[in-house]
Amino acid sequence: MKKMEIKTKNRNYPVIIGNSVLDLIYDLINQPGMYENLFIVVDENVFSLHEKYITNIFNETNKKIHFYKLKPGEHSKSFDGLETILSEMIEKKYGRDTLLISIGGGVTGDLSGFAASVYMRGIQVAHIPTTLLAAVDSAIGGKTGINFNNYKNILGTFYQPQFVIIDTKFISTLPKEEINSGVGELIKYAFLTNEIFYNYIYKNFDKIYSLEESVLNKIIYKSVLFKGSVISKDEFEGGLRKILNLGHTFAHAYESQTNYSLKHGEAVVMGIISALFLSYKKGLLSERRLKKFLKLPLRMKLSPEFVIRNYQSILKYMYGDKKNREGEIRFILLSGIGNLATDVKVNESDIHYAIEETVEVLS
Ligand code: ADP
Ligand code: ZN
Repeated sequence: MKKMEIKTKNRNYPVIIGNSVLDLIYDLINQPGMYENLFIVVDENVFSLHEKYITNIFNETNKKIHFYKLKPGEHSKSFDGLETILSEMIEKKYGRDTLLISIGGGVTGDLSGFAASVYMRGIQVAHIPTTLLAAVDSAIGGKTGINFNNYKNILGTFYQPQFVIIDTKFISTLPKEEINSGVGELIKYAFLTNEIFYNYIYKNFDKIYSLEESVLNKIIYKSVLFKGSVISKDEFEGGLRKILNLGHTFAHAYESQTNYSLKHGEAVVMGIISALFLSYKKGLLSERRLKKFLKLPLRMKLSPEFVIRNYQSILKYMYGDKKNREGEIRFILLSGIGNLATDVKVNESDIHYAIEETVEVLS
């Protein structure tokens, strides 16, 4: 078991990582200052796979508890999904003194965080991420959100949780394609942190897929540690935090383009490949380093049907991206592992080049 503190402006909060660590929740929910009544939003699939494990642990507390089972899938991350949760909280008479606990992947965490941040002007929230993607990325850092008008995460808040428990027992039931999606964000951290972590991921790549306990624990710990350090320095994405969006300007466009049949992490890896080509084109990477850096993302098995065809429509999605200013597309580029350049302006022909090379290298 590993424990760390994430430091934010107003408050520090713990992140616990390990196998079968969910029962450590007792101490956390019984701390002074923690709200009494528990409203638990749990992904329906996670609930049916782990019902006994979850209910046994929660039933031993003598608090008011309600399990709200959330329909899996991106469409739950919507006004409708939000409305249903909020209505149930009102109906079950949950007040200001509520701790909302999310148990699920990114969809559950993002939606629950948003609901908690607006219900009665804000109640407490805690996350128990059950996907690799949520464990290494979305459950940490306090970003919440829903999709609206075909734009992903266009509405949301910054809202830090009271605690996060990453119990890798949940990950054992995760389908292969969801592991793949998590590995996408992991590859992002490999590029953002340092050569040691990059090499560790490269060397242990297959062990991640076979869910080897020590490897899983280490990669989650290192990713959370890194993300936590970024969040402490820049909670609201004024500057440094932007590096966490490496590959994401491309990725969001690729996801929209494929109508979200492409999983987020897979899109991120394709986006990182594009960002590497763009970095090379802008003179930040030599050809030798480009080839070296492409090796890690190319280890991920990406389905060939995800070849990007419509360049104009990809560009249209990119211009709609939240990270842009004054109608220009800005990119996060890389000159080495851990060396990022943010807000880089590039012209359309360079973007075109990067997309074409991505398609070619993946075909
Ligand atoms: P992400 O974290 O990638 O945003 P989602 O929240 O969309 O993922 O969840 C992806 C899928 O995985 C959903 O169908 C969800 O029900 C399922 N899921 C989440 N956690 C688990 C788990 N531990 N075991 C099995 N399936 C899970
Ligand atoms: Zn992402």
